[in-house]
Amino acid sequence: MDLYEFQAKELFAKHGVPTQSGEVVRTPSHAFEAAERIGGLVVVKAQVKTGGRGKAGGVKLAKDPAEARERAHDILGLDIKGHVVHQVLVTPAADIAEEYYVSLLLDRANRTFLAMASKEGGVEIEQLAVERPDALAKVVVDPLVGVDRAKADEIVDAAGFDDSVREQVVAILEKLWDVFVREDATLVEVNPLVKTPTGEVLALDGKVSLDGNADFRHPDHEALVDSSAEDPLELRAKEKDLNYVKLQGSVGIIGNGAGLVMSTLDVVAYAGEEFGGQSPANFLDIGGGASAQVMADGLEIILSDADVRSVFVNVFGGITACDEVANGIVQALEMLAAKGEAVTKPLVVRLDGNNADVGRQILRDAGNPLVELVDTMDDAARRVAELAAQGA
Ligand code: GDP
Ligand code: MN
Repeated sequence: MDLYEFQAKELFAKHGVPTQSGEVVRTPSHAFEAAERIGGLVVVKAQVKTGGRGKAGGVKLAKDPAEARERAHDILGLDIKGHVVHQVLVTPAADIAEEYYVSLLLDRANRTFLAMASKEGGVEIEQLAVERPDALAKVVVDPLVGVDRAKADEIVDAAGFDDSVREQVVAILEKLWDVFVREDATLVEVNPLVKTPTGEVLALDGKVSLDGNADFRHPDHEALVDSSAEDPLELRAKEKDLNYVKLQGSVGIIGNGAGLVMSTLDVVAYAGEEFGGQSPANFLDIGGGASAQVMADGLEIILSDADVRSVFVNVFGGITACDEVANGIVQALEMLAAKGEAVTKPLVVRLDGNNADVGRQILRDAGNPLVELVDTMDDAARRVAELAAQGA
């Protein structure tokens, strides 16, 4: 889960990283009041989960409350890279002498943690990394040792930070490591980390991604979830404990096992090219041992997706044999019909593995005209793409 800047800064403050606090507001008049309380020069900052807000006009200085109200009026409702601004952070403006960059991240490719730092922050770091890679220091962090004094010194040296800020940056790096480890983050980034004209170093921006696999350790992270920013279908799926991810296409996908579902997405996208670019509408793994109820829950979510025009149920029978899955499909369709949500979109079902023959017979006996059986995964993918194209 990615956090908003103001949430990232709350975690920074909790772990002693120097930063500016502020107030998050949703209307221009509340921005006026917040600026009044803060006093002096303030910054009004779009709160969206994407970078480059400054360039897009989402970060503005305001000299007094009236100006803060105007800037909030400008920024609220802005579309920044597809993210509409619903809230702004009003925070005291800092004077900037220098802008730096620091981050800690999980380096999946190298199976380790990585610290990155640069004296040339503020700008988009991806650009710096491409154009002048030497200006961005990368230091491997041993997960068992973490960022201690010695490692922080190594990072400061590699980035070439001035001696005048060394002690402060070292302390900040150690505290950012606390944020990274104690909050179970996969990314902690500060861009810019600034030096003020009086020589103080503080985090002016913050980006934190939390590892959802560690949520069980952090009941307090629940409060950081912003349901309004989540896809409504994904929210409903989460409530039903379904492993569902919304995608952009027209073919609903249900399968058992993440690997099978991933390859189903691939074959459907491939087959769909022949039918005007049909592609998967979602990822949904109902797992092994899927009951009729789970199948019904999954079908219900997928069929309520207005983008879906056909559905591919791709199951490889294992611990849960195909006859149980077939019964699950039949019961799911009955359950939906009984709820007044009768299925009207075509379903292509491919059953293979344990008891596949029995499973197919159960579906044939049920005789639902919307259910088509196809033997192989590739043929089923072609057929379901064709049906999606016809339904367009
Ligand atoms: P981003 O563009 O989404 O990364 O948003 P940032 O929070 O990094 O802000 C973008 C830029 O706005 C920063 O690099 C600064 O140059 C400027 N900025 C942000 N906050 C302040 C502030 O308090 N004072 C001043 N003078 N500039 C600021
Ligand atoms: Mn930034």
